[in-house]
Amino acid sequence: MAWFTKTRKPMAPTDKVSRVPEGLYLKCPGCAQLIYSKDLSANLGVCPRCAHHFKMSATERLSMLFDGDYTVYDADLVSTDPLEFHDTKPYKNRLQATIASTGMKDAVVTATGRLDGIETAIAAMEYSFIGGSMGVVVGEKITRTIERAIGLRAPVVIVSCSGGARMMEGALSLMQMAKTSAALARLDRAGLPFISVLTDPTTGGVTASFAMLGDLNIAEPKALIGFAGPRVIEQTIRQKLPEGFQRSEFLLDHGMIDMVVDRRELKATVARALLFMGARQVAADAGRAAGPGGEAAGEQA
Ligand SMILES: [Zn+2]
Repeated sequence: MAWFTKTRKPMAPTDKVSRVPEGLYLKCPGCAQLIYSKDLSANLGVCPRCAHHFKMSATERLSMLFDGDYTVYDADLVSTDPLEFHDTKPYKNRLQATIASTGMKDAVVTATGRLDGIETAIAAMEYSFIGGSMGVVVGEKITRTIERAIGLRAPVVIVSCSGGARMMEGALSLMQMAKTSAALARLDRAGLPFISVLTDPTTGGVTASFAMLGDLNIAEPKALIGFAGPRVIEQTIRQKLPEGFQRSEFLLDHGMIDMVVDRRELKATVARALLFMGARQVAADAGRAAGPGGEAAGEQA
């Protein structure tokens, strides 16, 4: 009887967004509807029909959170490829190509500015830069952001979007976990708040360090958040994982994070939490002074 039972391979989930025509309309992976891209950006990258959260770039993220102008720091820090690493191609070439395609030097943008009138240091990770991976530069920029916040007596917000530690920098990238965590301990001792925003995806060494160390850990809806990927866990424990495993809502139910917040409510929620934790709003007309080494950046599109 078995001769007609064909095992059919399940179709691979299509994570890629099909664009028809390029840039004008996007197909929503959540509800399969076509969305006019201008409507999508007006809605902060959230599908107006099903509230699917599209990925947001680091600069879009900063523009969304800051009230207006903000000051970007350490934009020129670049990895020196300390291990002279090669995989399918030399890491040096991979870096050069990514720098050329993204216009960024590494996978995080760090800045200070006002969030609802509160002077805040924000670091936003950029997934399109080698999967938002944390190497020496990301670790250093995040650490400097925290230290800058201590100097300014300002709270810290880090928006994570990362595949984890950067393999091409080996143990040096793992050391960033300890370095950023130690900096956050100093922030804590200084009595300043840290809010971690976890977006899709936040995994590996980033989850295992600063992303889970917030005084408040806020996730965007349905974000993949975990340490090892589900396939690795399934193979290791030889058990089927439950529905929704490693998604924001599941983690909230199991006490791993504090809140799941729609992106359209994120800024107001962060501001409210910072005020609750003792942050002060500055009068809207008071001038802002850029700290040393900062480059003024306007609202960047
Ligand atoms: Zn949708």
